[in-house]
Amino acid sequence: MNLILFGPPAAGKGTQAKRLVDERGFIQLSTGDLLRAARKSGAELGQRVAAIMDSGALVSDDIVIALIEEQLAAHAGASFIFDGFPRTLAQADALDALLARHGARIDLVIRLEVDEAALIARVTKRFEAEGRADDNPESFKVRLKAYSDQTAPLAAHYKAQGKLAGVDGMAPIEAVAGAISAALQRLGGGAA
Ligand code: AMP
Repeated sequence: MNLILFGPPAAGKGTQAKRLVDERGFIQLSTGDLLRAARKSGAELGQRVAAIMDSGALVSDDIVIALIEEQLAAHAGASFIFDGFPRTLAQADALDALLARHGARIDLVIRLEVDEAALIARVTKRFEAEGRADDNPESFKVRLKAYSDQTAPLAAHYKAQGKLAGVDGMAPIEAVAGAISAALQRLGGGAA
């Protein structure tokens, strides 16, 4: 089973993805984490994307699709949870094609539904505590706009396929996890 955790930046996708990894054996594929790792390691790719990431804009489809392609090959046969990918229609189409090549598909898309004002408050706090460059108020505005312009329309794509399940992302972490479990249960289980 493969699922996508869908929602705006700072909606709690990473937190929920990590729980699903611990509890159900999924492999988490976060393009944001992969790009940050590339920057940390000093790889050429990391240097190429650093300024774009810090501005809050999306890096090019080719780059993130190549990262995902590499990871799917490295963990062939696993069950994946995609976190922060796909973010454009081109990425969604590429993901479908890559999974099909492995005889797999997206089974479920869980959308974390959150309130924008609450997100801004959450990220302002995180910026003060952790100083992540793209959490600064200017960049965060760009990230939210990238989400609403380029990513949010994907919900309709998955809804039309009957794969979209909405979850209240403003609820406490445990309650969000419970709602995600219920959605998975309806599909028949965990990573297997
Ligand atoms: P995230 O941690 O998922 O919010 O990602 C941090 C930043 O990495 C984003 O603001 C983008 O600059 C870049 N990024 C991560 N995933 C993608 C993606 N799927 N498509 C384009 N850019 C991405």
